[in-house]
Amino acid sequence: WQRLSSGLKRTSASLGSAISDLVKKRKLDSAMLEEIEDTLIRADLGVTTAARISEAIAKGRYEKDIDESEVKTVVATEVEKVLSPVAAPLSIEGAKPFVILVSGVNGSGKTTTIGKLTAKFTREGHKVMLAAGDTFRAAAIEQLKIWGGRVGAKVIAREQGSDAAGIAFDALTAAKAEGVDVLLIDTAGRLQNRTELMSELEKIVRVMKKVEPSAPHAVLLVLDATVGQNAISQVEAFGKTAGVTGLVMTKLDGTARGGILVAIAEKFKLPIHFIGVGEGIDDLQPFTARDFARAIAG
Ligand code: GDP
Repeated sequence: WQRLSSGLKRTSASLGSAISDLVKKRKLDSAMLEEIEDTLIRADLGVTTAARISEAIAKGRYEKDIDESEVKTVVATEVEKVLSPVAAPLSIEGAKPFVILVSGVNGSGKTTTIGKLTAKFTREGHKVMLAAGDTFRAAAIEQLKIWGGRVGAKVIAREQGSDAAGIAFDALTAAKAEGVDVLLIDTAGRLQNRTELMSELEKIVRVMKKVEPSAPHAVLLVLDATVGQNAISQVEAFGKTAGVTGLVMTKLDGTARGGILVAIAEKFKLPIHFIGVGEGIDDLQPFTARDFARAIAG
């Protein structure tokens, strides 16, 4: 909780102080309600959620004195209601190797998240293998090797420019032969060429199915919280083609726009597995609705 609330302190400080500024022991009227709703929208929570929260605040309190803690409690309660149905741990049971394809635009935190997940799974006693499927950037391949080396996970990589689907094929074949529990596959994220990017992801999936028809068992989309509303169009783009099964939101520590996660939960109803609250290996947290809601309400 400590780490989470400090990770989200920019969001909570911004939302919390906006609420405190607005709600000063006075009667709740329609003007104040409207201002509260605007504040929630500005905090990236989304129009639907903002409207629902302001309705919940008004209920039984209209024309009565209210205070800021009351409002923050309602915000936390309503946000929790939106998040509860989508907060879902990532289970790696039911397949060996459990294959996780990791997608997202460049810079969203894919490689870092893979590193953090590798550390987590290794700590839990699982044998992890990595595949360097972002073959467009030499740096991405190097990064993955570093993360793999740090926790002792084998990394399947080829030189820059190689066919990503070929690497996924080799990695899955090796993972099966070597009794690996979890195979994490990094992918490229060039949004400049969306069609090419999506067809590459589709090809990786198609080729992997030749080795193991049930693979991939999870397709994660990594989203950078600092891009705010842009994250919504990324879910739209990747969700359609890549068959995203769950989300990870990174860099919540570096932004006041953490509310975007609520808007995404409301709009897409996709499972949210983890959140990133820092660059360190332990800065990936399982996503829990109650804690997140309490942390952002300030
Ligand atoms: P990729 O291009 O999607 O693989 O992105 P990277 O994993 O290389 O991450 C891009 C940058 O974001 C790096 O500098 C990371 O250290 C940083 N980063 C990733 N996740 C987080 C996070 O949760 N919080 C912070 N503050 N930085 C992060």
